Amino acid sequence: MPIYEYRCEQCGERFEKLVRGFSGEAGLTCPRCGSDNVKKAVSLFGLGGGGGRASDSGSSCGPTSL
Ligand SMILES: [Zn+2]
Repeated sequence: MPIYEYRCEQCGERFEKLVRGFSGEAGLTCPRCGSDNVKKAVSLFGLGGGGGRASDSGSSCGPTSL
């Protein structure tokens, strides 16, 4: 489940919110001041990505000599 980070333009509070689907921003309010003037910041989902797919396990499959 993606977690989005929002920032309140009113007081500058930053908070994270679990968003389900695409209609998760409706009625978003700052938990600190209650303002709905919040903007979505960088999503935490996919930020700390290692991206390790270039791991070619050495398969000892030598050339067959006949
Ligand atoms: Zn606020």
